[in-house]
Amino acid sequence: MRKIIVAVDGFSSCGKSTLAKALAKELSYVFIDSGAMYRAITLYFLREHINWNDEQAVLEALSNIKLHFDYNEDRGSSDIFLNDENVELIIRDMLVSENVSEVSTIKAVREFAVEQQQQMGKKKGIVMDGRDIGTTVFPYAQLKIFVTADNAVRVERRFKELYDKNPSITIEEVRNNLEMRDYIDSNREFSPLRKAEDAVVLDNTNLTREEQLKIALDLARAKKLDVQTS
Ligand code: C5P
Repeated sequence: MRKIIVAVDGFSSCGKSTLAKALAKELSYVFIDSGAMYRAITLYFLREHINWNDEQAVLEALSNIKLHFDYNEDRGSSDIFLNDENVELIIRDMLVSENVSEVSTIKAVREFAVEQQQQMGKKKGIVMDGRDIGTTVFPYAQLKIFVTADNAVRVERRFKELYDKNPSITIEEVRNNLEMRDYIDSNREFSPLRKAEDAVVLDNTNLTREEQLKIALDLARAKKLDVQTS
């Protein structure tokens, strides 16, 4: 059966990764969390005290960064490695979350990440989630899903996720971080967060994970048929 590319985009913490991961599993496709790449780059910049307003410093730093994903059987998805160090957990820290959107506005950073993402999609059979996957990374993806959910629901979900790891976190901190990232991601100059014209909107505010997966699977199966017969 011919394979397709599925692009899943949307605002922060609206369940994109959960959906993309489950969809990839059902289709036996590769799942790539593109946000993990921007987070790993941000972690490197923070650790190495890179002044990201300095173009030369950014280019030099990027030349020293190697990213790769490796499948983690326990989690049932891939972990991201920064220069061969598994940074999957540490990139979810608040310090990275507070800086990642600013780092993601930098043209050189986007070019660095997008080129690698496009390479990963060469063989198709991939579900990638992010902000610009359907618009910039894979504008010709056969299926584009734009995930949305009510703001209060997104904050609550993210808070629960982070609270388990860090009980000192407050709901205000989480809300401020989501609002800030959404604002920067939507208003940046290079590949801002936008719904692709041909994307299907999936509002999961009142859906269970299973319900939203079923909708996405039906869409993917319909597209796979389209691809076979076209
Ligand atoms: O998906 P996640 O919330 O982990 O992404 C972290 C940040 O990385 C986003 O807030 C956004 O600033 C950036 N990002 C991006 N383009 C993508 C994926 C993520 O700019 N395709």
